[in-house]
Amino acid sequence: MIMISKNKPVIVVGAGPVGLCLTLALTQAGLPVTLIESSPEETFLDQVPRAGSNHPPTLEMFARIGLYEKIEPRGLKAPIFHYWERQGHQLIAAFDHVHLKDDTAFPFVLQCERIKIVEEAMKMARADPLCTLMMGTTFQSFEQSGDSVTAMAVGPDGKVIDIKGRYIVSAEGARSIIRHQLGIEFEGFTYPDRTLNIEVSYDFKGKGYTDRNYISDPGEWSNLFHWAGPPEVWRVHFPTKPEEDPDELTKPKALQERMRRFLEIDEAFNIRGSNLYTVHQRVAAKFRAGNALLVGDACHVNSPIGGMGMNSGIHDAFNLAEKLIAISRGEADDSVLDRYERQRRQIAIQHTQAQTVRNKRILAETDPAVRLKNHEELKRSADDPALARAFMLRASLINSLREAESIL
Ligand SMILES: Cc1cc2nc3c(=O)[nH]c(=O)nc-3n(C[C@H](O)[C@H](O)[C@H](O)COP(=O)(O)OP(=O)(O)OC[C@H]3O[C@@H](n4cnc5c(N)ncnc54)[C@H](O)[C@@H]3O)c2cc1C
Repeated sequence: MIMISKNKPVIVVGAGPVGLCLTLALTQAGLPVTLIESSPEETFLDQVPRAGSNHPPTLEMFARIGLYEKIEPRGLKAPIFHYWERQGHQLIAAFDHVHLKDDTAFPFVLQCERIKIVEEAMKMARADPLCTLMMGTTFQSFEQSGDSVTAMAVGPDGKVIDIKGRYIVSAEGARSIIRHQLGIEFEGFTYPDRTLNIEVSYDFKGKGYTDRNYISDPGEWSNLFHWAGPPEVWRVHFPTKPEEDPDELTKPKALQERMRRFLEIDEAFNIRGSNLYTVHQRVAAKFRAGNALLVGDACHVNSPIGGMGMNSGIHDAFNLAEKLIAISRGEADDSVLDRYERQRRQIAIQHTQAQTVRNKRILAETDPAVRLKNHEELKRSADDPALARAFMLRASLINSLREAESIL
């Protein structure tokens, strides 16, 4: 039996949503965890807005660790999402999660931002006697031999600390030092254009939009999402050109003009924030090297269209937790961790990557005939209950989890 103990805990690097969920899933099963986070306590919640669409199976996982009840009051239940054609402001299709009522206890998306999720999960981790939380501690490198690992990190006082453990998990996000140190390729590509995110308070429902909208346009596609307050905001994503100057793109005047063009209304918008981000489509060549494992953005990154990055990272966390728990209880040997890699890597490539690339292509398609065909297909899928369920099983990642179970 492989011992995971107070002296040899699982070391989790990174208290993002994935690292925190992994930590809670392990500690609640009796496994000690040392969680290392570089942000200091005081600034931990000062992070740019990112993920926020939480799909049904992710909500089921949150419920298992007691996190769902904490975030539900802070979010917004969105059972429906829309596809729009921007030209002529036409609603192409409305997909309703009601078609998943026999597949999940949560037939809706919970719009709840990453930052609220980590805030609530962090409170739980802090109160957990099996979690040793090291805030303001920056992981730098690690060594492994036999059945142990040693992580080297710089603590809040600037001193280097050695942290011993049985396994080390990189939940450090896309710039994972562990992935770099292991020389694991991050295979894929980066889109040359950046995406502009504008946060605005406005009555989009008065324009017919629902809480989650994908808006197709050959010149300027966008996504429009609603977030619970206070302050209540909507986030709109727009493509930009690679050669455009980032400073010019985010000037207040440029943001106002873009919103006016988008809504075809000449008024001053209450813009609350903006940021630009680069989109990568990459999957690590390996998710495991001995006692070191990768989860979440550390091993896969993708376009946010479809809201799959954080969701699939959390699915990694729960998959890995189940295996580490089985190992510590003597119900499985170490080789089960290779199955973690086989399952989650295949899902990252064949589901998350394939679908997010496709989502962007559909929104940005320029060929009028292909656009028409895509829109007809979406409409047909939304209007037929069996096709709608099949579509929603893919979009909500339920299918990806079912397929993962079939990978030995
Ligand atoms: C605009 C935008 C919108 C998005 N929308 C969605 C969405 O709707 N749905 C969705 O599923 N996904 C979405 N995503 C993707 C999502 O944000 C990420 O997939 C998710 O945050 C990854 O979680 P993570 O825990 O793996 O990594 P991160 O969230 O990046 O967290 C990593 C943590 O590790 C810490 N860390 C890093 N290096 C070190 C170190 N050396 N030592 C110690 N700590 C360290 C960091 O401080 C951080 O706390 C979106 C992304 C963007 C950019």
